[in-house]
Amino acid sequence: MKKVVVLGAGESGTGAALLAKAKNFEVFVSDGGKISEKYKKILEENQIPFEEGTHTAELVLSAHEIIKSPGIPDNTPIVRAAIEKQIPVISEIEFGFRHTKAKIIAITGSNGKTTTTLLTYHILKNAGLNVGLAGNVGESFAQKIIKNHHEYYVLEVSSFQLDGCFLFKPYISAILNITPDHLDRYESFDAYADAKFRIIRSQNENDYFIYNIDSEIIEKKILKLKPAVQQLAITLAAKDDLKAISKVSYFQNGKIITRLPYNRPSQLIFYEKDIALRGKHNVFNAMVAILVAQILGVDTEKIKDGLATFKGVPHRLEQVGEVRGVKFINDSKATNVDSVFYALDSFEFENEKKIIWIAGGIDKGNNYEQIKNLVAGRVKHLIALGKDNSKLCHFFGNIVDITQTDSIEEAVKKAYKLAKKDDIVLLSPACASFDLFKNYEDRGEQFRKAVESLK
Ligand code: ADP
Repeated sequence: MKKVVVLGAGESGTGAALLAKAKNFEVFVSDGGKISEKYKKILEENQIPFEEGTHTAELVLSAHEIIKSPGIPDNTPIVRAAIEKQIPVISEIEFGFRHTKAKIIAITGSNGKTTTTLLTYHILKNAGLNVGLAGNVGESFAQKIIKNHHEYYVLEVSSFQLDGCFLFKPYISAILNITPDHLDRYESFDAYADAKFRIIRSQNENDYFIYNIDSEIIEKKILKLKPAVQQLAITLAAKDDLKAISKVSYFQNGKIITRLPYNRPSQLIFYEKDIALRGKHNVFNAMVAILVAQILGVDTEKIKDGLATFKGVPHRLEQVGEVRGVKFINDSKATNVDSVFYALDSFEFENEKKIIWIAGGIDKGNNYEQIKNLVAGRVKHLIALGKDNSKLCHFFGNIVDITQTDSIEEAVKKAYKLAKKDDIVLLSPACASFDLFKNYEDRGEQFRKAVESLK
């Protein structure tokens, strides 16, 4: 019997173990940390042997194949030992893919994955397609396909999942953007971009690839790889030379013009006002979802209906309260600089300093140059919220007034005190949350509570 070892027993590892068991593999789960009660119970109930707090080399390295959870870095000693022994190390998504006949729509990028995945799913489901949702959102893909046989799956995939993909072949793939993130886990920005591009490695001319042509690194990689897959580009810049290319969809003056390759109807028009989400980044995300729906033959009215009824995702530019004319926006999921760029840019006022910006936490290698001008033009006050605020203070010290704190209640109170009617208090941290919070959801929730206690 083929032996599979699963490293890490979180959502994806446990899902992979269950699928392996269902497919009659001999399976063993090894987690170097503590396994949460929820997953321990699932493993026990399904009689899947496991260990925690250690990786026993002889058990792990006796595997024919290892399924590694995305949270475990490649340079972990046990992973290195496996690679040295030439044991294939794959991801849960790759493993799942080998055991389903569903057509896959896979969405990756540095920012916007969850929003675009959920929006795409919403449109397709609303249009009556037999579609499932998995990946980084909710239940793992591997677990879902044990019982649910959908015709399509919309998957949110991270670069860490893609690192372990080899045969994974989406029918439609999308790379939304590639901007610096996770540079603590990749050798270079280029290596991080290569990880994202693994999404197209097995696609062929019968498949589709949607991408952001405004991104230099994406364009560069495509020119180098010359993939056979059908390519559909999107631009928000709407430069004339891009508009002239038949497969480029663009956005101009509130109008979205989408265009599909040769055998499909071209030139469909949607309007920014059809979309329930705010901000230019969400226009882009919506364009991806529209193209997916068009490729799958969903009719225009159904797409419009889906766009209008999708209400957005918590912790992504989510308004959590308004107190005496001051709006409080929770963008706790903005854990890198590019997402903060779109957040600062998304409010409708010109050249006015109306934002009180709460930022800080654990820096993943940020370069704040990209948002310097936006901060200078739009931010009235920066509240640095973290255990170590030195980098933020150093960069923005000469640009904007700064208050430092390590308490979110204090941050919210101070922001409220500084705000005038029609100002915006924006939590958009550019950093991970683990110095003061359990995770970004916890940070967003505590922000919401602190806002509620102002009332
Ligand atoms: P991900 O799943 O890739 O982390 P999310 O949809 O959770 O993406 O959004 C993360 C953050 O990025 C939020 O602050 C959101 O407002 C912002 N964002 C969403 N879409 C984009 C985009 N296309 N480009 C840049 N930022 C985006």
